[in-house]
Amino acid sequence: MTETDVVIIGAGHNGLTCAAYLAMAGLRVHVVERRKVVGGAAVTEEFHPGFRNSVAAYTVSLLNPQVIRDLRLAEQGLRIVERRAQNFLPAPDGSYLLTGEGRTKDSVARLSVHDAEVLNGFSRELEDIADVLRQFVLRAPPNLLEGFGTAAIREAMNAFQSANILRTLTLEQSRSLLDLFTRSAGEILDERFEHDLVKALFGFDAIVGNYASPYAAGSAYVMLHHAFGEVNGKKGVWGHAIGGMGAITEAMARTARDQGVAIELDAGVREIIVERERAVGVVLENGETIRAKYVAANVNPKLLYTRLIAAEALPADFLARIRHWKNGSGTFRMNVALDRLPSFTALPGEGDHLTSGIIIAPSLGYMDRAYLDARAQGWSSSPVVEMLIPSTLDDTLAPAGKHVASLFCQHVAPELPEGKSWDDHRDEVADLMIATVDSYAPGFATSVLGRQILSPLDLERQFGLLGGDIFHGALTLNQLFSARPMLGHADYRGPIRGLYHCGSGAHPGGGVTGAPGHNAAQVILRDHRALFGSRG
Ligand SMILES: Cc1cc2nc3c(=O)[nH]c(=O)nc-3n(C[C@H](O)[C@H](O)[C@H](O)COP(=O)(O)OP(=O)(O)OC[C@H]3O[C@@H](n4cnc5c(N)ncnc54)[C@H](O)[C@@H]3O)c2cc1C
Repeated sequence: MTETDVVIIGAGHNGLTCAAYLAMAGLRVHVVERRKVVGGAAVTEEFHPGFRNSVAAYTVSLLNPQVIRDLRLAEQGLRIVERRAQNFLPAPDGSYLLTGEGRTKDSVARLSVHDAEVLNGFSRELEDIADVLRQFVLRAPPNLLEGFGTAAIREAMNAFQSANILRTLTLEQSRSLLDLFTRSAGEILDERFEHDLVKALFGFDAIVGNYASPYAAGSAYVMLHHAFGEVNGKKGVWGHAIGGMGAITEAMARTARDQGVAIELDAGVREIIVERERAVGVVLENGETIRAKYVAANVNPKLLYTRLIAAEALPADFLARIRHWKNGSGTFRMNVALDRLPSFTALPGEGDHLTSGIIIAPSLGYMDRAYLDARAQGWSSSPVVEMLIPSTLDDTLAPAGKHVASLFCQHVAPELPEGKSWDDHRDEVADLMIATVDSYAPGFATSVLGRQILSPLDLERQFGLLGGDIFHGALTLNQLFSARPMLGHADYRGPIRGLYHCGSGAHPGGGVTGAPGHNAAQVILRDHRALFGSRG
């Protein structure tokens, strides 16, 4: 048996972030990870001989700058570079949109003079609201508590401070905020813009990891969620971590280990030990026991409460609700080894557009149909694909002259209809995704030397992402902010004393941010000081 101060279940980037902050504050921390590598969904692996890529998450923007600084990730060797162009959207008629610093407005103007005129205003509106919401990222949202104890008074203060942050919005910005939290991205974009590709540029962010039509209420929030980020101080920009997303989590793990954190791999947790209504440790799959003052879970909340804790140990109403925690991103992820770079009909040959997020989804209607098809048949014959070719920015991933590409594909049903299994259909759907890219870049299919396929079921099996949910739970209004993962538990504390949520199922949700890990660590430290004083 091992004894420690904090045991953390999962070495995803949030588990590692939480571990590093706790260890920096002087606590003994033991991280246990089911897989043989650290990183969770932010990991780089060789998927074809000589070809490495980010396996799941594939692009950086949301990683919080304070987390980068506090964990000294740059000193640990992390280097994040900007794409030379941000996005490239080819259309079937041969037109295209190419965005990025100094080129977006001209490219939009070639499609629609009207859209070019309103573009800056809309982008500024999103940025201004994102600026205010960024202030909520590294703090626990107000938590709803019953009664009038000290904790309730603290939460009332938190609510007051949160309201004060929101008061920095003008009345008109508050109206936009309400729109962005409640309406569909499709409606908002149809009101502002006229050209399909321009709407698709913003609309794509509304369906990333969101198994819904861009016309579904609430999809505008998902669009906003993807605007929170920045790369090297440039807001709203997406970039690439040299070495792939695993470079981020390897740097985090180095910092954590430097601070004395023990990271045990191939060490899945079978059960959380609960004694006298308090979480006091974990039992691993191999039977080993680790006892701790605090248990922090980096895993999906539904997995935590329905698989790792005995039902009798949980309040019945809590368990009943968490069983209905909504998972399922509708995402099908592939990595391909390429013999050569693709050449797009809309913009042939090499160029900066090949360093960008290449979005095959030429209109909101196309995305809407992809969702409706997936609901009816399991996947769409005209799927949405974002392709990134990170080897255009990073020569550590593929042999000289060869390339790797990430394909992030939607929509597919998290569970197939009529009892069909993803295991029987993953190859067929992978062929479809490659054919879809090939229809915009002829010759792409024959350039594929090898491929890795991750259906929603594969994502669940490999990473513990239930229903393949890339965010550990849908980013719907009933699962956000003070309701993530449930009203009354937005303060990173679970329903059992000593148990904490430090993964993406807690505020501010999914993405490689480090924020839930940071925030959970602050709460654990506060509780520790309350129990043991500053010397604890
Ligand atoms: C396909 C895909 C594409 C994505 N693309 C992007 C992107 O480009 N950019 C971006 O910012 N975000 C992206 N995301 C979202 C982002 O990767 C995740 O939201 C984030 O990485 C989750 O981090 P986490 O630390 O909270 O959890 P995870 O990374 O899920 O880590 C949880 C860890 O817990 C471990 N675990 C599970 N069960 C047990 C157990 N019983 N015992 C011990 N350990 C256990 C898992 O193995 C895992 O390592 C993507 C996600 C996916 C899946």
